[in-house]
Amino acid sequence: MNTINWSDWRVSPQHPLDLSDIPTLPGAHTEAEKQQWPARMAELAEQLNRLQAMLYASKTRALLLVLQGMDTSGKDGCIRSVFAHISPLGVRAEAFGVPQELEYRHDFLWRIHAKTPALGEMVIFNRSHYEDVLVPIVQNTLEHSMCEERHQHIRHFESLLHDSGVAVVKCYLHISKQEQKKRLQARLDDPLKHWKVQASDFEDRRHWRAYMHAYENAMQATSTDAAPWYVVPADSKPYRDLLVAELLVHTLQSMSLVMPSPKLDLTHFKMK
Ligand code: AMP
Ligand code: MG
Repeated sequence: MNTINWSDWRVSPQHPLDLSDIPTLPGAHTEAEKQQWPARMAELAEQLNRLQAMLYASKTRALLLVLQGMDTSGKDGCIRSVFAHISPLGVRAEAFGVPQELEYRHDFLWRIHAKTPALGEMVIFNRSHYEDVLVPIVQNTLEHSMCEERHQHIRHFESLLHDSGVAVVKCYLHISKQEQKKRLQARLDDPLKHWKVQASDFEDRRHWRAYMHAYENAMQATSTDAAPWYVVPADSKPYRDLLVAELLVHTLQSMSLVMPSPKLDLTHFKMK
């Protein structure tokens, strides 16, 4: 089947980014193509599993997947589907909420750095340091010049991770305001989803345009070769998961991982 062209969705620092110009649904795919998505997803899951086992065994590289997006964009769902068949050994998901008092008394990267992957690990960030260049900008509690400084700190921080062997992949799950309305309504209607409902979901929705603008600025300022951003159309859940899985498999493949050679001369061991 045609593989999904993930590189089309990469954010270029050279071109102005306008999220309203980027579709939240995949482009024209025939029904026949869509029917192949589950088989492709199964293939990718198998590859991810094998590559993650090599990452874990060799402990020479690490992978950090940053997931950002408005409420209901599918960060939790994407983690569930893409990593469903991977051994939990060496994989960790970290969620970042409103900083605690002690976290506010540190620099904004303090709590983030502590959760980055060690060599051999794969870590998923469900929200991240990017909240610190989004929320305070929308709430008008951070000067724009300070925000630019934070973008620069982020570039340096991610470049440090890259130089230390961590491949950083950042995905913005791009949903439309209409799709969010449906998903928020579904949360209100389903008692099993009530635990997820927060007042901030509705408050942030009122500031949709301001969030889009803050995302555009942040992604454009921080989409580097060391840590590129991808805008993932996320109104379709299967396509969203497929794109993220393609991206991860590609990133792991480009690491040229190999299983480590034995630490001992195995010819000494004879089974009786
Ligand atoms: P959720 O991911 O839906 O559980 O919600 C977490 C909430 O914490 C969201 O409203 C985020 O915007 C908020 N949050 C996460 N990090 C920060 C931060 N650094 N500053 C302010 N709010 C944050
Ligand atoms: Mg939420």
